[in-house]
Amino acid sequence: MKNIIVFLGAPGAGKGTAAASVAAKTGARHVSTGAMLRDALARKTPAGLEAKSYMESGGLVPDAVLCRMIGELLAETPDGATLFFDGFPRNVAQAEALDGLAAGAGAAVTLALCLDVSREDLLARLGGRRVCPKCGAGYHVVALPPKKEGVCDACGEALITRLDDQPKTIAHRLEVYEQSTAPVIGFYETAGKLRRIDASGTAPEVAALVEAAVAG
Ligand code: AMP
Repeated sequence: MKNIIVFLGAPGAGKGTAAASVAAKTGARHVSTGAMLRDALARKTPAGLEAKSYMESGGLVPDAVLCRMIGELLAETPDGATLFFDGFPRNVAQAEALDGLAAGAGAAVTLALCLDVSREDLLARLGGRRVCPKCGAGYHVVALPPKKEGVCDACGEALITRLDDQPKTIAHRLEVYEQSTAPVIGFYETAGKLRRIDASGTAPEVAALVEAAVAG
């Protein structure tokens, strides 16, 4: 069986940071659909080019693009692996599709972690977020600064602010979250798979809570 753990929460809640650090510790694979799409866009693949305008405006990329990506990923995942899904599913249709894709690939969603943060904290976190355009590592100017200002610790590339972390786009992404993604929490609650995590603390504090939840 392939084990899927879904990370839910608003943009800026710290899903990527927590998933990356707990994955590194436990041997799970961190799957960020946002990072996969940014990579596809950088390589100008058909999926990347199709996703471009949606990503730049902070809207959702069509479900079919995501389901194809996730279907391929599940097929190539070895049995016994654990996957941390960060940014997928993003609406109830994707959550339903994921159950079908998983069943067909010998996988199952066993846990959905919802990272809870106040709106005030989300705005502060998103504004200070920086990312490495080369390796995808994430940083924050206050909460998680790189060793050398503006430079990626892992690969030495100059860090950037994502186009969709600009103030106007942030507001739109939070709206999309409320309308489309928040209902996914109810989907997993009904399925009896939801665990809520208080994600208001520091990155190491949140990672410790996530690690404990994953360990069961
Ligand atoms: P993220 O890095 O998770 O914030 O994702 C960045 C952007 O990629 C989002 O604002 C969407 O445009 C797109 N994206 C990522 N995951 C999904 C998904 N599951 N469904 C639709 N669009 C997505």
